[in-house]
Amino acid sequence: MTATAITHLESFNPATGESVGTVPVTPPGDVQGVVDAVSRVQPAWARLSLQERGAYLERASQVVLDECDEIRDLIAREQGKPRNEAFSMEILPTVDALRWIARAGAEILSEEKVPMPQVFLKTKRSAFVYEPLGVIGVISPWNYPWSIPLGEVALALMAGNGVVLKPASVTPLIGERIVSVLERAGVPAGLVRVVHGPGTGAVLAESSVAKVFFTGSVETGRAVAEACARRLKGCVLELGGKDPMIVLDDAHLEHAIAGAVWGGFANAGQTCSGIERVYVMRSVADRFIAGVVAGAQRLRVGDPMSWDTEIGPMVSGEQLESVRSLVDDAAAAGAELRCGGPVEAPAGLDGAFYAPAVLTGVTQDMRIMREEIFGPVVPIIVVDSEEEAVALANDSDFGLGASVWTSDRERGERVAAELQSGMVWINDHMFSHGACQCAWGGVKDSGLGRTHSKFGLYECVNVKLRTWEGSAVRDAWWYPYDETLGKALHSTAQVLYGRASERAAALRDGAVPLAKLGGRLARDAIRR
Ligand code: NAD
Repeated sequence: MTATAITHLESFNPATGESVGTVPVTPPGDVQGVVDAVSRVQPAWARLSLQERGAYLERASQVVLDECDEIRDLIAREQGKPRNEAFSMEILPTVDALRWIARAGAEILSEEKVPMPQVFLKTKRSAFVYEPLGVIGVISPWNYPWSIPLGEVALALMAGNGVVLKPASVTPLIGERIVSVLERAGVPAGLVRVVHGPGTGAVLAESSVAKVFFTGSVETGRAVAEACARRLKGCVLELGGKDPMIVLDDAHLEHAIAGAVWGGFANAGQTCSGIERVYVMRSVADRFIAGVVAGAQRLRVGDPMSWDTEIGPMVSGEQLESVRSLVDDAAAAGAELRCGGPVEAPAGLDGAFYAPAVLTGVTQDMRIMREEIFGPVVPIIVVDSEEEAVALANDSDFGLGASVWTSDRERGERVAAELQSGMVWINDHMFSHGACQCAWGGVKDSGLGRTHSKFGLYECVNVKLRTWEGSAVRDAWWYPYDETLGKALHSTAQVLYGRASERAAALRDGAVPLAKLGGRLARDAIRR
């Protein structure tokens, strides 16, 4: 990716090096103006009912479906994931998510009654009202350039917000396509705007947007969080991962092997919650390793536009070099590369290709077990117990996803409870990003807050509490303050919350002050 001129950003096919297209760059100084423009369109959108906003998102789901082949090929050409993966991991999840957000979102964001069971609050009525925040900034990465931003934009829209989207600089055309799909669905022009180019992400975080949804690296996420903190506004951070896969001795081995191959190598390993570390129990380790190596060797590396390609190019030569450096470092420290590594670009192509690699003999202190790999490499450590596996899995700065593979559900759930992560999948890995009802997010350096699910919708609103008092009777704790009030409050607390054996005495002791206070409130009510 280079800027052909100061005014435009050119996007290149990572498999062929050919130009895919250009977009105009937004001068960083114009970003606040874009936010202001969206904030002028947003109030009318916020006045629509949830059902009306949902109807637009349902139409957007249909537009994605109608244009799915074209969008799939744009993703394959601009980002490099194979066509089938572009469909299964990007298109289909968003067709489903837009419908889920429209339908479930209308219920989740409806006004919600808050029960008021305390006897001294009985006359009050309360509700949570979910109000839009205004304009939300969405800053997204290149690895899932369609499904990540579109899901977040849709959550923000359902909640009544406008959006300024900053797509990754290597996938700008996909960002543009998100806006064109929404506009084809009838979403008001100008409610979702895109900004492109160097510096625009940082300026967007600094702008008057009410909140930022950031997905990307830990380092940039930290800078975004600092900018938001200075302005006392919130952010949701979806950052890096180092997902462990724990294979227990009672796992269904063929299933675990197939899961490791897909979870480790999908999107050429460039997935935040791809399998980046495997801890396998000794009794099944040999068969597991042999199966994963054989599975890795069978994967077809090639042109993402070809139907049977399973591993496309790395997004860039720099990405390949960073993977190569981690693998070289592990090999120098004694790890064994069982298969895979950099390969020549297949005939007719001109990208950075890396055949799926499996490493054994790795140790927990190697860089490859501590840093995000972001490439098709699965390092495997053999462990002697479930406890050792859990301890090693938790020995990481990251905590995005994790998986446990076992045929014993209770055992799987016990291990899941021990793992420090935002998500744990038992006998699967990472699929739930494609099911919008499931919350997505991490702990530790993997991020803050949640996207998708009801929690992702709550991230897009001001949860306003609204109460109603219909009785015109003063609250008991209002002025005047005197000894009668003090004794009545004391006795009320004992009667309501004290030991059962002491309640009668508390009521007896408090009878006079309670009666006096009751009389005072009643006289007050009559006077009004
Ligand atoms: P990145 O941090 O380099 O960039 C992410 C986005 O931030 C891009 O749009 C970029 O232009 C923008 N940006 C760059 N500098 C900025 C700044 N100072 N302020 C604001 N925005 C700025 O990340 P990347 O290389 O595009 O993506 C790969 C990373 O994303 C990996 O670490 C991966 O694990 C992570 N990721 C996490 C999730 C998740 O759900 N947790 C999902 C996908 C990717």
